[in-house]
Amino acid sequence: MSNKKPYNSYSDYFSKIFGGRVQKLTLDAGFTCPNRDGTKGVNGCIFCDNNAFNPSYCMPEKSITTQLLEGIEFHQKRYRRAVSYLAYFQAYSNTYADIETLREKYLEALGVPNVIGLVIGTRPDCITEEICKLLAELSKEKYVAVEIGIESIYDKTLQTVHRGHDFNEAVQALNLLKKYNLKTGGHFIFGLPDETPEDWMKALPIINKLPLDTIKFHQLQLIKNTEIEKLYQTQPERFFRMNMPEYIQFIVNFTEQLNPDFVIERFAGEVPPRYLSDANWGIIRYDLVLREIEAEFAKRESFQGKRYTI
Ligand code: SF4
Repeated sequence: MSNKKPYNSYSDYFSKIFGGRVQKLTLDAGFTCPNRDGTKGVNGCIFCDNNAFNPSYCMPEKSITTQLLEGIEFHQKRYRRAVSYLAYFQAYSNTYADIETLREKYLEALGVPNVIGLVIGTRPDCITEEICKLLAELSKEKYVAVEIGIESIYDKTLQTVHRGHDFNEAVQALNLLKKYNLKTGGHFIFGLPDETPEDWMKALPIINKLPLDTIKFHQLQLIKNTEIEKLYQTQPERFFRMNMPEYIQFIVNFTEQLNPDFVIERFAGEVPPRYLSDANWGIIRYDLVLREIEAEFAKRESFQGKRYTI
């Protein structure tokens, strides 16, 4: 663990691997999702609005190369220290296409100067042996990580939010990726309907055993005009909402029991305020949330995994 931070930070992880700062560049490569094209469903997960998570330069009508070059230009102006980039296939399900389409898109991204690897966001039911073989081949030369939307370990919740897969499928997908020695990430949401902080703490022994390299946490952000926002308006009692100070207490408690080997990419989400309903934290930058989390660790003289038990 870094001697600077009380947790395994994503930036330190990349510094160790690449010896310098690496910036992820978000892409919309024009994929769809089985939960939207009718294979599993048509309306998607009840919290989904991909527009809210994409920077403005990400538009599928622009080529992958154009999006990456525009992303590099944007970041070079803002963060002059970044020297290398990872193409982050974020929007929708980025392993959901035939193998030749996938190969073409990934190779296009890897062909852009200074792009040293891929981070591919996808669903558990969009990982196959064939895809793993392609990614393993690419990973011989470049960094390749696959981030799986797990969201919850509870199947009842996954049904409520219409994920169209269960928790076991997430475990199977991660195991398959690891069989091919690929880097794995997992994403979880705290605040889905009918779940409580007690449920999230009870999930820890299961999460801690997952074959993950990196992990990302989000508080539930209610995006305007999504199904979950409508559900919240009609049945607010089904939601355990935390304000920011409460969330900070919770996430520090949680991280104290988290596997100390996991690299934490994010502790909380940040969506542009214009997408958010009023039932959120308002305009609070992630940097500020992170500072508050680090201050809480310092106050407790604590760190990731302090109370981790196998
Ligand atoms: S799996 Fe992802 S892209 Fe598909 S509907 Fe759910 S949140 Fe949206």
